[in-house]
Amino acid sequence: MTEGLDTSASIEEASARAEKLRDELRYHAHRYYSLDAPEISDAAYDALIRELEAIEARWPELITPDSPTQRIGAVPSGQFAPVRHAQRMYSLDNAMDLGELDAWLERVEREVAGRNCAFVCELKIDGSSLALTYEDRMLVRAATRGDGTTGEDVTANVRTVKSVPLKLLVGGVARAQETLFGDESPWRVEVRGEVYMPKVSFERLNAEQEAAGLPLFANPRNAAAGAVRQKDPAITASRDLSTFMYQVVEPRALGLESQSAALQWLRDAGFRVNPDIKACALGADVHAFCEWALQARDTLPYEIDGVVVKVDSFALQDELGFTSKAPRWAIAFKFPPEEKTTVLREIRVQVGRTGALTPVAEFDPVSVAGSTIARATLHNEDEIRRKDLRIGDTIIVRKAGDVIPEVVGPVTRLRDGSETEWSMPMTCPSCESEVWREEGEVVPRCTNAGCPAQRLERLGHWAGRGALDIDGMGSEIITRLVEQGLLHDVADYYLLTRDTLASLDLGRTKKDGTPVLLGETMAAKLMASIEASKTRPLAKLVFGLGIRHVGATVAEALTAAYSSLDALMAATVEDLAAVEGVGPVIAGSVHAFAENAENVDIVHRLQTAGVRTAEERTAPEQPQTLAGTTWVLTGALEHYTRDEAGMALKALGAKVAGSVSKKTSYVVAGAEAGSKLERALELGVPVLDEAALQAVIDSGNLPA
Ligand code: NAD
Repeated sequence: MTEGLDTSASIEEASARAEKLRDELRYHAHRYYSLDAPEISDAAYDALIRELEAIEARWPELITPDSPTQRIGAVPSGQFAPVRHAQRMYSLDNAMDLGELDAWLERVEREVAGRNCAFVCELKIDGSSLALTYEDRMLVRAATRGDGTTGEDVTANVRTVKSVPLKLLVGGVARAQETLFGDESPWRVEVRGEVYMPKVSFERLNAEQEAAGLPLFANPRNAAAGAVRQKDPAITASRDLSTFMYQVVEPRALGLESQSAALQWLRDAGFRVNPDIKACALGADVHAFCEWALQARDTLPYEIDGVVVKVDSFALQDELGFTSKAPRWAIAFKFPPEEKTTVLREIRVQVGRTGALTPVAEFDPVSVAGSTIARATLHNEDEIRRKDLRIGDTIIVRKAGDVIPEVVGPVTRLRDGSETEWSMPMTCPSCESEVWREEGEVVPRCTNAGCPAQRLERLGHWAGRGALDIDGMGSEIITRLVEQGLLHDVADYYLLTRDTLASLDLGRTKKDGTPVLLGETMAAKLMASIEASKTRPLAKLVFGLGIRHVGATVAEALTAAYSSLDALMAATVEDLAAVEGVGPVIAGSVHAFAENAENVDIVHRLQTAGVRTAEERTAPEQPQTLAGTTWVLTGALEHYTRDEAGMALKALGAKVAGSVSKKTSYVVAGAEAGSKLERALELGVPVLDEAALQAVIDSGNLPA
């Protein structure tokens, strides 16, 4: 049912959990709405609200009037004069995925029973709600939403926001005024929308805050809300706010019958209205717009956190009405959250190929940003202490950079005393040898070179994509080969025969009780993969050997300086340390590897088996016109993979780096370029598009 409480929970347990959730949510709502300084992400907050909603749905008797599920926003702070809204300012109900959106669309269609129901899709601007009142075309008041009933008077501040008209344009308004109100005075209209801070302005503001040693804003939404609620309007003016208006209060009085007509009226009257608005006749069109918005999100100059779908006709909106918190005629489709809450069940220790012991969090599976995750590395014991993680904690998890699962931290106020602390075991979980933590290192290591877990990792690393890439050689097969004494070290891969592989027992049985064997087809495929792995580039082989501190980039640097494994292994520490990108620690590690008799034997056996350990180097064919320049490639290119583009640049003598710094000469930005592009713009590094890159590759000349 909910994350944190299982289906068999009693009402007493649910009540205790609900109380804890309410306290926690109240605390965060205060930080968010009143202090503009949230401590947790919106996604994490939403996950906790959803858990509370689920408990209250199952046990309605547990609902309290002050529950955060029952109210909007926050009580006005008292810092500004209160404004009672003539009509309540509502929040929106959320659809957390397309399934919930469909359920809402179906409900609406059912309620309007056969009548034609069109929708308007608008971007959900991640700013702060704003209500503007005009009398005789002049702006007389600007108010925040507050708790929906009473907001704060922020007129003086909002008058500094350039996109807010101080006087309405004549066009649409004059027409409405003449036809509907004649000369009656004062003529009055209220409009609503969102005040927001563009992404670039937010970044600039935070850079200034940082330079001045002031606290940073968590996101543009809080920065905008904070800017609107300044004591000094001059500060608001300096914050570069903008607006998108999307609602006319009492539109019928202006002769407007639909949301699309209201949006047009707003444009005519001189308001800024978002250009990406779509009228949709069908649910499928609504889906398509939501999917488009998800794609467009990163390229927009302002933050959005979803799509608001509204019933277009005001007559139908009136029929559908409101719940206590939100209109029934609108829904906010929220983008898949990058953060969720779940329960930490266990911390398991994983032994790496160099013996490093890494704690890994195992938690109840949750779907984050489109895929299910159930474990994440915790890096080391210090990190667990720093985050104060305990087994049984409700934790916030996310996908860092949308790929790697990460534990953000525990929700400590939800603890009930049953959580237990964790500490690193003193022995290796695989071989039970003693573990050793070197002075100054955060990671303890298993010191037994023959440790089975280390061996499996080393063998897997060799066969992995980034190394020798033995396609099909997965961890299950490697484990079986080790167990059956066929594989001790990486050189043994090249002694395997098709027959041994075909008859490899996979440790499972068929229905008739006979063992499942790997079989001829897989054996033939693996033999071909093993053969192909013999001629990989030298850098891949050096990386595959798993020498401590030698990652893929260092392996490239080493093999650029040494064209054979023999030469590399014969090098002195001083020679190695002189290679660009190689420091004394790496040099020492490579040298120690080369001194070890067991390693020398492995290298010798690899060579005997026909694995290529030297590369022929030819002088560069092309003139090195880009020598001395450093390039960074980001985003998706149309005609090249990034690797291909990098190789083409390297062939002209350029250096290709992975991150942007002051030393970067050029950044090539393809589609959906992200933080690297932003960094380049920040540092003033020239940015080229694919056409400009193509010109450089074709001509061999530096960009004009
Ligand atoms: P909401 O922001 O999710 O949705 C309602 C609001 O959307 C409206 O009030 C309006 O201001 C805005 N909106 C933007 N574009 C719109 C459009 N085109 N049409 C209509 N409305 C539009 O709901 P909420 O009640 O304002 O706040 C809840 C949000 O605040 C959640 O996302 C929650 O995560 C966040 N929150 C976070 C914390 C935290 O600690 N991180 C605490 C409290 C609340």
